[in-house]
Amino acid sequence: MSSETPTVGVLALQGDVREHLAALTSGGARAVPVRRERELDDVDGLVLPGGESTTIDRLLRTFELREPLRERIAQGLPVYGSCAGMILLADRVLDGAPDQRTLGGLDITVRRNAFGRQVVSWEEDLPVEGVTGDGARVRAVFIRAPWVEEAGEDVRVLARVGSGPAAGRIVAVRSGDLLATSFHPEITGDDRVHRYFVELVRQRLRGREHEERRV
Ligand code: GLN
Repeated sequence: MSSETPTVGVLALQGDVREHLAALTSGGARAVPVRRERELDDVDGLVLPGGESTTIDRLLRTFELREPLRERIAQGLPVYGSCAGMILLADRVLDGAPDQRTLGGLDITVRRNAFGRQVVSWEEDLPVEGVTGDGARVRAVFIRAPWVEEAGEDVRVLARVGSGPAAGRIVAVRSGDLLATSFHPEITGDDRVHRYFVELVRQRLRGREHEERRV
């Protein structure tokens, strides 16, 4: 639990787990896959990977992870959701499957498959607030991705699509220690979004150590 090298899990039920583990390691974390409830106890933060949100939703119930995970999120576990992971973090989903549920926590409404159903549905270099400085951009790859249709008052918009038919749509948000992107930074070999998340986890841990010392 060293706050310099926090332990960050990747929910490993389905999706591009390996890529997230690599990006987190490169971003400064000790990265571990999480499949069981007890593995959840050991992490300081968690990534919900891209994949298929309906499948991950079903597997969360099968592996009896849904309720423990909801509880940890309610207690303030930092979580980063990418694509399907963003859907899982959203309080509300449009165009979801009939019995689809989310973990929730983020006061956003997402539209599933908003960019269309092609394998790569959109690609663009985007500035992401807090992640890129001084005119820098992140290669944002959208794969059957959701966008954020509505964001609550306490949600900070970090990025919007810059051009094309989806111009202006919200694709990266943060609320407290919950972070979500519609795109997949883990597949481009760019660790800046993961580095940003690992730093958020570090700050959370430092805050907690500070509180513990004061008690
Ligand atoms: N369309 C997928 C879903 O609904 C998300 C796609 C992705 O994560 N690349 O879960």
